[in-house]
Amino acid sequence: MAWYQIRLDRPRATLLGLALLVLGGLGCVLYYTYLNIQHDMNLITAKQKNVFDVFYQRAKILKVENIASYLAQHHPLDRRPPPSGVGTDYLYGYDLKSKERFADVPLQYPAANILNTFRYALSYPEVINIYTIWDDYRLIGMVANERILPAKLGSVRVDLMSFRPWYHYFGCASFSKLRHFCSTDEAVVSNIEVDSFSLRNTIVMYFPFTYQLGRGGYKYGLLAIDIAVDEAFNEVLRPFQHLNPSRTAIAFDAAEPCRAFHLCLNKPFMQTKSGAVLYLKWSYSWLDFIKLALHSAAFKVYIIIILLAMVAWKQLYQRLRTLAHTDHLTQLPRRDILNRTMLHEHDYLMILDIDNFKSINDTYGHGTGDQALVAFSRHLRSNIRKVDSAIRWGGEEFIVLFKGMDDDEMMRHSAARLLARPLTIAELPDPITFSAGVIRIRDYLSVAEAVHLADELLYHVKQQGKHNIASYDGQRIHLIRDPDAETAS
Ligand code: GH3
Ligand code: MG
Ligand code: MG
Repeated sequence: MAWYQIRLDRPRATLLGLALLVLGGLGCVLYYTYLNIQHDMNLITAKQKNVFDVFYQRAKILKVENIASYLAQHHPLDRRPPPSGVGTDYLYGYDLKSKERFADVPLQYPAANILNTFRYALSYPEVINIYTIWDDYRLIGMVANERILPAKLGSVRVDLMSFRPWYHYFGCASFSKLRHFCSTDEAVVSNIEVDSFSLRNTIVMYFPFTYQLGRGGYKYGLLAIDIAVDEAFNEVLRPFQHLNPSRTAIAFDAAEPCRAFHLCLNKPFMQTKSGAVLYLKWSYSWLDFIKLALHSAAFKVYIIIILLAMVAWKQLYQRLRTLAHTDHLTQLPRRDILNRTMLHEHDYLMILDIDNFKSINDTYGHGTGDQALVAFSRHLRSNIRKVDSAIRWGGEEFIVLFKGMDDDEMMRHSAARLLARPLTIAELPDPITFSAGVIRIRDYLSVAEAVHLADELLYHVKQQGKHNIASYDGQRIHLIRDPDAETAS
């Protein structure tokens, strides 16, 4: 089938257009929703303070030596039972090898002074623990409440030399004689882990320090700050209500396997000095994503556009259809507009043919012939009612369909009125006349049959001297202009 043979009928074209609009528009709405989520993620992550930066600065002013000397002076291995009382803060110490607690120092003067320094330096609610790990396998820490102190240590079960942060600072140069750290300016930041004391998701920042004891001996250690993820990234983890992701997470790995039928987005929003990047991750089940899209402003705009487009489409289609069925010269509908339905909506069909039109062309030129056709069409249109229809049937032939005519008498009256109004144009010396045949449209008539019958009557008029209208009542042919010229059929 060649391309020019493919015809789009009205319902199919409308359906195709609508389907394209609906699908294309939905695609745009979903993409807009996706961009909006990204934009919201940008907003949320952009206004986060860099937790790492804050703690880098604060960790620098902590004096771990103070804790060490305090413990040395205050019998650290004296295991007195801690005084009862809820809400008391303690300085505590663990032996990492035996995992025994060796000190429970209630927060009273002068210990309170030391811990107040810590408090001041790290006065954030997200700090759940600050402690130091020493190369004699001791861990000394601060915790908010006696109740959450475990009897035994659970988290650090490794040899310090294979403990990643320790190795990072002290082990990488194999404890060189010069005591140089591998890196002094950065913290080692742990992955997100569950804190063994508080059982909360925690990121740990480790900073190295050295401490010179008497007799020239050195101690090495790490200052560790446990930061509660949920509190530090509260705003990030609890996104704006209406965004409603199925899952929010933060992690150091950029990618995570996206569950089936989920849309996963991630966005870097914080960086440690060593370059590790913390990502905010949101995932949406497709259902939630589509719900979000349906609630978006874009979807409302889309609905409005669809409705407008449907109206515009209808109008455009009708306009094109009218144009396609309109004769360019006379602006009358062309013959292909006449179908059986249209025929049977009317009561009478008249076919008209301009008399001696060829001689107009021959004598005054084709241009004048055209002008005569245009004038005749206008004349025809202005002499029929709005409910009637005029069609350019071809050449100088026209068809008029009459509606709402009860009987032949009424039709003859209209036909006589048409005949009685001669058309004169400036370009021609004589009026333009026509001959016509008119028939009553019966239920059984097809377009071809109706036109054929009317054509025969027209032929009859041409035979009888032109400029007249013939009709047939089933027995006789009647001529409108001159009743005396009636002829038996
Ligand atoms: P009759 O009175 O028997 O109808 O004779 P006629 O000359 O009107 O009829 P005929 O069929 O012999 O000639 C019709 C002419 O109309 C022939 C054709 O060149 C001319 N014609 C058809 N379409 C157009 C048109 O669009 N413009 C012009 N100027 N002439 C046209
Ligand atoms: Mg003709
Ligand atoms: Mg003619």
